[in-house]
Amino acid sequence: MVRVTFATLFTLLCLVSFGQERKFLLIGIDGLRPDALQAAETPALDALIANSTYSFDALTQFPTYSGPGWSSMLTGVWSPKHGVMDNSFVGSNYADYPHFFSLLKEADPSLYLASVTQWGPINQQILSAEDYAAIPGSMEEAEQEAISQLTNPELDGLMVHLDDVDIAGHEFGYGVDIPEYLLAVEAADDHVSEIISAMQARPDFTNEEWLVAISTDHGGLDFGHGGASYEERNIFIIFSGDNFPDEMISAEYSMLEAETSLALNMNQTNVYGEIDHPVYEFDENEDFTVDLRIKTNGWSDDPAIISDKNWWSGYNPGFVLACQTDQQTWKFNLGDGEERIDLDGGVINDGEWHHILVSCDRDGTTFLWQDGEVVAATVETVSGSIVSDFPIGVGQDGTLSYDFDFDGWIDELRIWNVALDEETIASTTCAAISPSHVYYNDLIGYWKMEEMSDTGIDGIDPNNLVDMILYNGPYVSQEDPMICSILENEIPEIVDIVPTILTHMCVEVADEWDLDGHIWGIDLSGCANEVETVELLSFQIQPNPSNGRFSISGTLSGDLDYEVYHASGKKVLQGRLGDDVRTIELNLAAGVYTIRIAGQNGENLSRQLLIQR
Ligand SMILES: [Zn+2]
Repeated sequence: MVRVTFATLFTLLCLVSFGQERKFLLIGIDGLRPDALQAAETPALDALIANSTYSFDALTQFPTYSGPGWSSMLTGVWSPKHGVMDNSFVGSNYADYPHFFSLLKEADPSLYLASVTQWGPINQQILSAEDYAAIPGSMEEAEQEAISQLTNPELDGLMVHLDDVDIAGHEFGYGVDIPEYLLAVEAADDHVSEIISAMQARPDFTNEEWLVAISTDHGGLDFGHGGASYEERNIFIIFSGDNFPDEMISAEYSMLEAETSLALNMNQTNVYGEIDHPVYEFDENEDFTVDLRIKTNGWSDDPAIISDKNWWSGYNPGFVLACQTDQQTWKFNLGDGEERIDLDGGVINDGEWHHILVSCDRDGTTFLWQDGEVVAATVETVSGSIVSDFPIGVGQDGTLSYDFDFDGWIDELRIWNVALDEETIASTTCAAISPSHVYYNDLIGYWKMEEMSDTGIDGIDPNNLVDMILYNGPYVSQEDPMICSILENEIPEIVDIVPTILTHMCVEVADEWDLDGHIWGIDLSGCANEVETVELLSFQIQPNPSNGRFSISGTLSGDLDYEVYHASGKKVLQGRLGDDVRTIELNLAAGVYTIRIAGQNGENLSRQLLIQR
């Protein structure tokens, strides 16, 4: 990772002559997986990457259809704000979260902006405030339209969308081992080459300051996309231009140990738990979350891990987290007697601890998480009551008499009467729950499995204190702690493209636009009347894990205001570091903490820190 020093910054600032005209070219290549971009012969894209801030680890969100993908890229906000969940565009809210051309025009009505998109709905549904729009029928026509726009000296910004890579993916499959898919990537690169040549051939090109941003709306898996898999959510983002430092942003993970010692051992024959209380009967629209740690070396058939239903049919009312008949992965099923939803989780038969979680928004999205990552999701719901008239079985289904036993260990079992949100889940993956957790009052069941009891496990949630009855013990054993991988740094996301283009165009991102993205690259002082501002890129914590004393480094300057949050979300400390002090000493209990530093532009950067005692 290239660190931008202040010396480099100074040099860059001097190189940019005052008053160069800011321009942008945004190229969207539909359905292009980052691994295929790296595998294919793409000289034009490679040349742009060589002079860019870029990432092959970038992400978009579920659902990974084109409608929500392009909406997120072009409005700078995620689906809950722009409202688009699929290609029907039903529920879109472009009035409050418009295409970024509208934001640019709000700042400078004289800008000339054009949109050339092979996929019609981008222009028909999302686009606004354009001076020119075209929906070409092929990549060749898109190239011609783009070149013709680039000959216009008044042009300030152009978006070009190329569709053939996605078309090839749907027809032949997405992946590095699909020759037809790679050929489509190479064909798209030829068109990018011609479009870039046209940009560079502009008579006034040397007096213009271009940002070439290139990305995609989603990846793909097998012959499609729309799901929550990493292959579908992983995208690339390239910000190429002299304003942007040459830097590859890779996801950096650190391995942290979760606090744990004893666990419920269910390896013996017919060991299971029973939890019986009406609070766990979820009615028609009641949201819920179930999460636990699990470790197993395998099983027979498809035993329930936790369930309040008769698991002999997925249509039966109630929920189940179960091991799958593939003998490797887990699944979630929810039924109301007539309808069912089914989602597949990841591999868990590897003898390692995993944190698995189901967050079920009954009139929204159901997410499956594993080890801090979304592994599956659906917007389908079952509308009826899921009350089953059975207790909850742990290592069993609701009948407590399902033919197949779960073999393995379970720890830190929790049930909530809300669908936990993404930020909360991501920030508490490796942590136990304390009263300072944001949703502590919505915790309706919590069994830590820390007692050496042979008959039951005490409930320690604040609301019900329902004990788990255990059958056929002994039940609790000492186990190795769970090792969690924690993302250490900020990774570009699809919603970062709008704020980055706006900033490049010397348009300050207004608070009332309510954008979700992060600004990448350096905000240069080349904008007329703009005081020198430096975008904070990142900071690092060393050592991590630490005993509480650590240093921060990175592209930060001046006094720094910092805040420390417990993994539960509660702020435990705040302070200010002087210009020349970059060491913090925290006298806090062992655990996972988030260090948040306020950037100079009001943006917050955060990193996770593990304190070990
Ligand atoms: Zn698409």
